[in-house]
Amino acid sequence: MTYRLRYRIRVLAFALAAGLSTDAAMVMGRTPQGVPTLMLPENQVTHVSDHVSVILGFPNIAIVVGDRATLVVDTGLGPRNGAIAAREAQKLSRGPLLYLTTTHYHPEHAAGEGGFPPNTLLVRPIEQQKELELRGMQFVEMFSSRSPQMKELLVGVKFRPPDITFDREITLDLGGVTARLFWMGQSHTKGDELIGVEPDSTLVSGDVVQNKMVPNLPDDNASMKSWVEVLSKLQSTSWQHIVPDHSAPGDGSLIEQNYQFFSQLQTRILELKRQGKSEEEAAQTLLAEFKAKFPDWPNLNAIPNVVKHVYNENA
Ligand SMILES: [Zn+2]
Repeated sequence: MTYRLRYRIRVLAFALAAGLSTDAAMVMGRTPQGVPTLMLPENQVTHVSDHVSVILGFPNIAIVVGDRATLVVDTGLGPRNGAIAAREAQKLSRGPLLYLTTTHYHPEHAAGEGGFPPNTLLVRPIEQQKELELRGMQFVEMFSSRSPQMKELLVGVKFRPPDITFDREITLDLGGVTARLFWMGQSHTKGDELIGVEPDSTLVSGDVVQNKMVPNLPDDNASMKSWVEVLSKLQSTSWQHIVPDHSAPGDGSLIEQNYQFFSQLQTRILELKRQGKSEEEAAQTLLAEFKAKFPDWPNLNAIPNVVKHVYNENA
């Protein structure tokens, strides 16, 4: 079974359980509704490449296993999920060291660090750490207000200082496999991190490269302009496997697919803005246009949010 199919079946099962439409379920990673998907599944690790496995959940958690160290990417929402991620990593581990890194500071990616063993080595880009210190608790409170389950999962969350920070990139030698953690600039947040795993030719891409997901620009720490530039730079890299955080794993073509969608959307929004169209007019026009052009993208109804963001970004 392909990852995408397996992912869709999981999402479909949750949607049925939660009484949601599949469309709503496909975007649940972005607008969590307090349904059972908040808990990471146990004993359900999917093998992606020689050294990379993934827990498909909210969000997808990548686990990179070397002879002397294991790296976990993202924590899950709150310490109970963090403990699940850490346990799954320990089952796969062959070496004594455990590293943890986060693709960005949002709670389902970073607020589970308390569930990891105390000797875990936490690694993060400086830009992301600054952002977490400024807005991390604000997002924890915002998520907590969304549902009683979220509140319960996030109760008592505190962020500890990282053990290692880096500016542009750092390479961790895990023993027989390396993980290059790198920061390319503002995208979904200011501090988005990506992780390249060699010799696996696997990219763990966070929110920066997704599988058919309209850009999620939650606040002014996100930048569509810079995100398109990041995707443009990523086009010169090549990968066999890409593991996004809120959509199904895929192959290297996800970068080009994202670049096409993002750059065309950005260009059209700016054209309509220059023509003096209102935000609402532009949103309606582009919703129709992109539904015709990208019919298999499941969350095109998020396009009006992108229009709003780009209008503000270029005000
Ligand atoms: Zn996020």
